[in-house]
Amino acid sequence: MSEKKFSPESLMMSHGYKPSLSEGAIKCPIFQTSTFAFKSAEEGKAYFELAYGLREKNENEELGLIYSRINNPDLEILENRLCLWDEADDCCVFESGMSAISTVLLEFLAPGDVLLYSNPVYGGTDHFIKHFLLKMGIKTIGFHPWQTPEEIGEMLREENCGDKLKLVHIETPANPTNTLTDIEEIGRIAKQINPECVVCVDNTYMGPLWQHPLKLGADLVVYSATKYIGGHSDVIAGAVLGHKEPMLRVRTLRTFLGNMAGPWTGWLLLRSLETLKLRMEQQCSNAQEVAQFLNKHPKVESVNYLGLLEEGTQQHKLYKKQCSAPGAMVTFNIKGKEKEAFRFLNALSLMKLAVSLGSTESLAQHPASMTHAGVLPDERLKMGITENLVRLSIGVEKADDLISDIGDALKGV
Ligand SMILES: *Cc1c(COP(=O)(O)O)cnc(C)c1O
Repeated sequence: MSEKKFSPESLMMSHGYKPSLSEGAIKCPIFQTSTFAFKSAEEGKAYFELAYGLREKNENEELGLIYSRINNPDLEILENRLCLWDEADDCCVFESGMSAISTVLLEFLAPGDVLLYSNPVYGGTDHFIKHFLLKMGIKTIGFHPWQTPEEIGEMLREENCGDKLKLVHIETPANPTNTLTDIEEIGRIAKQINPECVVCVDNTYMGPLWQHPLKLGADLVVYSATKYIGGHSDVIAGAVLGHKEPMLRVRTLRTFLGNMAGPWTGWLLLRSLETLKLRMEQQCSNAQEVAQFLNKHPKVESVNYLGLLEEGTQQHKLYKKQCSAPGAMVTFNIKGKEKEAFRFLNALSLMKLAVSLGSTESLAQHPASMTHAGVLPDERLKMGITENLVRLSIGVEKADDLISDIGDALKGV
């Protein structure tokens, strides 16, 4: 029977795994092995011919298992399952989100090339772009959420980058403000300047569930799998997915950087994918209740949540076009300054004070002094990362309990 008609959530327990190859084990074992025995020298030769691209695959031929830096069953099955959510041709998993992102940046940019990227981006990405890429002689052009696609196009034409524009890196919704960038429009503008330009979207904030950048014209999508995909705050991992051609380049560089995830990480993520949709839907439903509660609270100045965007605004239109749900990340401005924000954070009991996001437990943090402490104060203010901003990642607890915890903590402010 073909499994084509089943939804990804139905296939997360079985896709790509054959129990008969593993003593009938219903769950994929951990293939904790560095290398794989060939049945014959001829077989070993054939595998290497494919691995090194020395010849095309014969009909029905698959690359056999060689060595765990190149392939391993836990990673291959995980990659096949991740492909289902984004309808991607191929996927590569990495030992962290940062290694996924830096591998893409390194593969598609060479000295003299130009990178266009959105602001704000994840702190680690920001550092890699502004320090490491600069050192490599790569020109980087950042744009901000308040610039229209036309203005960004104008800026690129003034810079005269032409076919030097090799890569676009977009993070939307932006962390921590939830501002949205138009993936399709920015991609179109970049490809007008250089049709070969690769468009990559960091989709960590929307998980593989609520936004599908490949359908909006992106060539690659990257994830910190540490967040929603892992979802239990017990593993660091990353993934890149996309079309066949750019993925072949990503996979090849991963082989030579050797920054693939290990089998144990792969196994943990296989476990996590089985409940991905359940977890994310519960998180999103909780977040909607929390956001509404905060929005009416007298000690709260304003709430940034995709579910509270005003109809008719440009951001709401973009939300409708790009996202299928408002997610589980809520930020709000508490009335007051850092002192009031800290009082609130210190008074939480059920919610924990920690960075990271997308996990089963709810977390709270203070972007200006924590995740975004490395951003220049001026820039921070321009992005709306003020002293009184608090970021919440909503988990799977009972919504009423979260609201009661938040309510009590606000009382003490
Ligand atoms: C956490 C995060 C990363 C980095 O991922 P790691 O797994 O911590 O290396 C990249 N992008 C976004 C949006 C993130 O939230």
